[in-house]
Parts: sequence; structure tokens; C-alpha cells
Amino acid sequence: MARPIVAIVGRPNVGKSTIFNRMIGDRLAIVEDMPGVTRDRLYGIGEWLNHQFSVIDTGGIEIDGDDAILKSVRAQAELAIDEADVIVFMVDGKAGVTAADQEVAELLFRSKKPVVLAVNKIDNIKRQDDIYEFYSLGFGTPFGISGAHGTGLGDLLDEVVQHFPADTEDDYGDEVIRVALIGRPNVGKSSLVNTVLGEERVIVSDVAGTTRDAIDSPFERDGQPYVIIDTAGMRKRGKVYENTEKYSVMRAMKAIERADVVLIVINGEEGIIEQDKHVAGYAHEAGKASVFVVNKWDVVEKDEKTMQNFTQKIRDHFLFMTYAPILFLSAKTKQRVHKLLPVVNHVAEQHAMRIPTHVLNDVISDAVAINPPPTDKGRRLRINYVTQVSVKPPTIVLFVNDPELMHFSYERYLENKIRGAFGFEGTPLRILTRKKS
Ligand code: GDP
Ligand code: GDP
Repeated sequence: MARPIVAIVGRPNVGKSTIFNRMIGDRLAIVEDMPGVTRDRLYGIGEWLNHQFSVIDTGGIEIDGDDAILKSVRAQAELAIDEADVIVFMVDGKAGVTAADQEVAELLFRSKKPVVLAVNKIDNIKRQDDIYEFYSLGFGTPFGISGAHGTGLGDLLDEVVQHFPADTEDDYGDEVIRVALIGRPNVGKSSLVNTVLGEERVIVSDVAGTTRDAIDSPFERDGQPYVIIDTAGMRKRGKVYENTEKYSVMRAMKAIERADVVLIVINGEEGIIEQDKHVAGYAHEAGKASVFVVNKWDVVEKDEKTMQNFTQKIRDHFLFMTYAPILFLSAKTKQRVHKLLPVVNHVAEQHAMRIPTHVLNDVISDAVAINPPPTDKGRRLRINYVTQVSVKPPTIVLFVNDPELMHFSYERYLENKIRGAFGFEGTPLRILTRKKS
């Protein structure tokens, strides 16, 4: 199930990043013991009433020249209109309605996207009256909130989730492997797609996907159907925001959400940069299978250690994704490109693998026998029962006497034992602890 994307739009200083942090706050607590996941400020995953959603603060798009603020807020609004499912339009209750607010309101209004109007800095009951003038923006009831105190956020999110698309599944069958290629411009994503599709590209051409504006390329190889999602070459030419990092990250997020397998394409000639980590971290958090694809290997000067060194570099940069296989290839010379689909098949299969409960319990029992959980203030964790509750990603629940007694390092130990026994190569594993004595 693809998570809907919520974009926060508004002038500088209305409190977008404060609210953004509050929206992903609960979630942060859940994932905080995942070392190495980049905690950047580009996107986050929020949760409300059992709905998960991605949230992006569109602020920070810088445009120079006259009316710089107006232009950049306009660009934010356009980006949100084109890419988000729900827009939170944020204004400043202390400042009142400004000309920039009015202009953005008009843009948003014309787009027909769902917009929820949030009036921030309503820090106390006396300020409630400040929200009334914002009715004039034409989005119905404004939601008074306070980023400073965290008040009003629940009502705002109640409204936001009302606007989520009812069904974000695509129409491809379950047997189809959905592949997304992500990576910076010029790493060779389009070339790789063309090499993989070969002549078949002409036959399938670009078929419009079922999801909004995505252009997908379905194809079949050795009886296995695939679809390459929203291929990388697509760019919205002529949009003001086209070259911003927010935009490329948002495109990547959308493609990742729809994918089973994410190919993280890296330019072998240039190495790894921070932005590669953002999107890879997103694939991990979204629970997708991943493969690192080091492209342009033909132009890399090599000796017998080069591949090993590059592998180490990837492992160092992506500490939390040691499960992802690494492939060195060249879209240009086609060197090792034939290995790509077999690896995709393999990780897709691992991502969807189910382990029978009794087998899983045997592995955990053995692991506990070899290395019992440490005691915590005289109390010891007891694992009573283990079961895999879902796939894509494989999610395993440990029923224990007290979840508080499960420590990260021990969970890590169990994960390694599970991986040692079953593989789960290429896929993140979710391990949850629940109380049951
Ligand atoms: P952004 O530029 O829209 O991302 O705004 P920020 O989140 O950086 O906030 C701008 C300023 O407003 C900061 O000094 C915040 O501390 C402050 N601020 C944010 N939310 C509130 C609020 O609810 N009440 C008050 N009084 N100040 C707030
Ligand atoms: P994208 O922006 O990630 O889709 O990258 P492109 O597929 O457009 O490729 C960017 C440039 O890199 C083009 O000039 C390609 O010809 C070149 N390129 C792509 N793959 C390879 C490769 O494996 N080896 C070499 N030497 N060049 C490549």
C-alpha cells in the first residue's frame, strides 16, 4: 500500500518546519533505535489513526531576484500541487492574511487538490479569534494550531486523513515485480532502463500507469512480468522547481512507495553523496527490497582491490542496509547487465518470503539457548512465541513477558540469527515486540 504524500506549503517563518517535526515526532520515537538512518529534514513518515503518510516540508526552495519570497512560495505550491495527495496550507495567525497568502491561496484553489488550511501560532485560547479572518482564503474552516505547544494538531490531522485517496493500489497483479530506479541525475538510470528493456522497449513503448501521471514500462522476461515504475528520465520541463532537491526527492519517494524492489543507482565514477543516502534511507524505512547498482563501471580505473574498496565504501555509508546486494555494471557496454534481473527476482522473492511459525520458533529458541537475553535490574526478557505476521517487508512479532526488556543490541542479535537461518537478502526485516505472557 503506497503511503499518501502530505506537503506543507506556506511563507517562511509561519512554522512549517516546527509542525513538520511534530507530525513525524511519534514516528521518530519508534525508529530512533535504527542506527545510520539519516534524520534529514527533507521528508518524514507520520502516523495518525492507523494511517501512515509521508510528509514533506516544501519550504526552502530559494529563488533569487525581485519578489523572491513570493516566487519561492509559488514554486512550493506548484510542487505540492503536482506531487502531493493532500496539501497543508500554513499561515501565521499572528501576522494575519498577507498578500502572499492570498496569491498562494488562489493557486491552490484552482488546482482542485485537497487543501487543509492551518493557522499556526494560535498559542492560547485568546488567540482563537485570530483564525476568523482566514475564512476569506476560501478553504472552509481554518484549523487553529500551535507548533509551540503542539495543540490543534489532532484535529488538523483528522481532517488531513479524510482526504487521503481511498485506494492507492495500482492495477498490476500481485505476480508483477515493480522496480524503481532511483539516483541522482546522470548516474545512468535511463540508459540502464533502455539496456534492460532492449528491443522490447519498442514493443511495449511507454504505457500510462494507473496512478496519476506516472509513466510505467511493463515488460516480461522468461515468463516473469515486471514493471519499471515512473522511469527516471522523466522530468517536468520548464517548471520552476524542476532542479530543486525537494522535487527529486519527492519523485523518488513516490516511485519508492509504488515499488517492490528499489535499484539505488550510483555513479561508479563519482562515488556516493549525501542525497544518495536520503533516498536509500527512505527505501529502507518504507520497507522495500533494495539493490545497489554501481553503474559506469566501464570507465572506472580498476585494480584487483577496486571492487572490494567500493563495496566497503557502500557498506560504510549505508550502515543500516547491509542486507542489500551490490552489483557493478555498465549500462553502456552492457557488462554484467544480464545479472540485474536475476538479482531483482531473488530479492523480490526474499521480500515476499514467509517462514513457517514452528521453524521460526526453533531458530529463536536456539538463539536464546546460545546467548540468553541479559537481565535488566534483575529481570530477564522471556520470549514466549514468535510468528511472522506479514511480508513485503517480512514482519516478525516476538511475544514477550515485557517489551521494555528488549534492547536494541539483543534485537540485532536475533535479527542476525534470523538472517543467518533464512537469508532475507535484499530486504529490511521488521521485528516487533508485543507483551504476552
Ligand atoms: P518555517 O520557516 O515556516 O519552517 O517556520 P519555522 O518552523 O522555522 O518557525 C519560524 C518561527 O516561528 C520560529 O522562531 C518558531 O519557533 C516560531 N513558531 C513556530 N510555531 C510557533 C507557534 O505555534 N507559536 C509561536 N509563537 N511561534 C511559533
Ligand atoms: P539519468 O539522468 O540517471 O537517467 O542518466 P542517463 O541515462 O541519461 O545517463 C547520463 C549520461 O551517462 C549519458 O551521457 C549516458 O550516455 C552516460 N552513461 C550512462 N550509463 C553509462 C555507463 O555505464 N558507462 C558510461 N561510460 N556512461 C554511461
